[in-house]
Amino acid sequence: EAWRQPELKKTKTVCTYCGVGCAFDMWTRGRRILKVQPVEEAPVNGISTCIKGKFGWDFVNSQDRLTTPLIRDNGRFREASWDEAYALIAERFKSIRAAHGPDALAFVASSKCTNEESYLMQKLARGVIGTNNIDNCSRYCQSPATKGLWRTMGYGGDGGSISDLESAELLLFIGSNTAESHPVLATRLKQAQKHRGQTHIVFDLRRHEMAERADRFLRPRPGTDLVWLSALSRYILDNGLEDKAFLEQRVNHLAEYRQSLAPFTLDYAEEITGIPARTLEEVALQVAKASTLCAIWAMGVTQHVAGSDTSTAIANLLLVTGNARRKGCGAYPMRGHNNVQGCSDFGSMSKRLPGYEFVSDDAARARYEKAWGVTLSTNSGYNNHTMIDAIHEGKLKSLYVMGEEMAIVDANALHVQAAFDKLDFMVVQDIFFSRTCEQADVVLPAAPSVEKEGTFVNTERRFQRLYQVLEPLGDSKPDWLIQTELARALGADWSYRHPGEIMDEAASLAPMFAGVTYERLEGYRSLQWPIAADGTDTPHLYLDGFAFPDGKARLNALEYTPPTDQTDGEYDLHVNNGRLLETFHEGNLTHRSAGIRSQVPTSFVEVSPELAEQRGIKSGSRVRLTSRRGTIELPALVTDRVAGNELYVTENAVGNDHAINVLTSNEADKDSSTPAFKEIAVKMEILEIE
Ligand code: SF4
Repeated sequence: EAWRQPELKKTKTVCTYCGVGCAFDMWTRGRRILKVQPVEEAPVNGISTCIKGKFGWDFVNSQDRLTTPLIRDNGRFREASWDEAYALIAERFKSIRAAHGPDALAFVASSKCTNEESYLMQKLARGVIGTNNIDNCSRYCQSPATKGLWRTMGYGGDGGSISDLESAELLLFIGSNTAESHPVLATRLKQAQKHRGQTHIVFDLRRHEMAERADRFLRPRPGTDLVWLSALSRYILDNGLEDKAFLEQRVNHLAEYRQSLAPFTLDYAEEITGIPARTLEEVALQVAKASTLCAIWAMGVTQHVAGSDTSTAIANLLLVTGNARRKGCGAYPMRGHNNVQGCSDFGSMSKRLPGYEFVSDDAARARYEKAWGVTLSTNSGYNNHTMIDAIHEGKLKSLYVMGEEMAIVDANALHVQAAFDKLDFMVVQDIFFSRTCEQADVVLPAAPSVEKEGTFVNTERRFQRLYQVLEPLGDSKPDWLIQTELARALGADWSYRHPGEIMDEAASLAPMFAGVTYERLEGYRSLQWPIAADGTDTPHLYLDGFAFPDGKARLNALEYTPPTDQTDGEYDLHVNNGRLLETFHEGNLTHRSAGIRSQVPTSFVEVSPELAEQRGIKSGSRVRLTSRRGTIELPALVTDRVAGNELYVTENAVGNDHAINVLTSNEADKDSSTPAFKEIAVKMEILEIE
């Protein structure tokens, strides 16, 4: 029957490109992806998608896909069988553990992979190898937001749902390029603004689309958000505009907090942020008067040395105004990758087990020890960022990286790459031969989301199932299967035949996910955590109280920490950086979609019209940016989205040449180790004028 066309098939999947969590039917014939069809029942997006969800799938059938394991032999990679690759990894992991102890090995899970695969990665690290050296890329983006919310409200997730954002009277957008980073969510909010009169106030360095459309757009100096946020809180308290009943009944530590606000006058805020005191007063009055207020923030807040404190300042303001325990209110850190929330939820973090119980919690640890039949380590583990220095210091000898392009997405990329050169043994599991693979000893070919089953959790804590659309290409395998087979090669008795069995195990151990089953997530059904054993889920986290023993939230006293890597006479320009609508992250996936590549063939640097005129730069001129760490060369785009001496570099750089992280430093948020990606001073030279 070779003359017959393969059958037309329709399979439900979930987008792999951002934390909004759009779900849709994917129509295929054989391996050809014919169309992406969003449907009414999709809980987040209905009939919408953005360009990436609709057209960003060419990578699945790319000629560049890894289809067989690779082993480095005498400096060159050669193809190998799975058995040979597993045997080599098991032998090297065991010998490194025997020589240096389990804490000489570290594991990095992926926010692009499923919850089940995050669960297995931490089980492999903790239960098979015996180390807490396990982390994921939320370290690079949203850990400070999670920290800020744990401190103040108790849970590290969005307070409510996207529907709460839609229904709010006032939205504050802080360091969030929502229209490009979370496009379908932004569309829902643009409609709320247009049709319901919702008010949008945007605080950002850059005049992106949400800023362009905002009712008020304000540009604080880089890294100063904590100051204006605290000044608003102080003004509201000084003028008796706070929600007194809510503070009295539901919130602790008001007196200490009020005292800590002493320095944050409107005049001081004007001096530090550059926003006039009068304007801040108007904003404070708007915030105090709003019947329902939500704050949306992203990496413009978190990727600073004060990222956790600034996230805490946002939560403080919401508490002062009573905007945290009602529908249409709350804190909404926008999760970047499709499963950055779920990857942390399922325990790929050095200190936390699945469901955020601490490894140091004896009762929680005992539950896992009993189920897994092992004794778990209580040693503190390295996170993604601290792993790099630990390698340089000779404490870490081996690294297993699943689906992360660490060589160019961690800060200070040249320092990271130099660390990888020092490893005794490195395994990288990915769908393409990434920049990180170049430094590996073994490369394992993995399958992307459309070639496997599993679940993702979106930014509003919503579990959704993805079904297998295609068979894995060549000899590639789903990550969960690779992990299972590798664990067996290491002597563990893992026998998972389907991701549903992994979820059943995780749900039986993590109380937060007790009611998660594949049946309850059938088709387009979804659940928002925490999920009780009877399947009751939680669209809004705090309607019944905050997640502390007394049910009360906690205001936190804060001090302002100025950004690092300040400009001076030589390094005179500040570089901001982030996403583009058309591309995803460093571009390894979207770069392989011909249509997207034709739209945005390269990363570029945005230069303000005034700076361009001063320096004689035109759109298309090639420029060299040099920071105190490294140098990149890329084309310039002259645009009034940026102002003055502010530059913006897009992050869609495949390989080293344009990678923003050649410029970034080792400085990190003091409370979460999230690198200060947004704190870069550079000098700019013109190489060639278009
Ligand atoms: Fe995918 Fe996000 Fe676009 Fe939705 S908004 S289609 S989840 S990239």
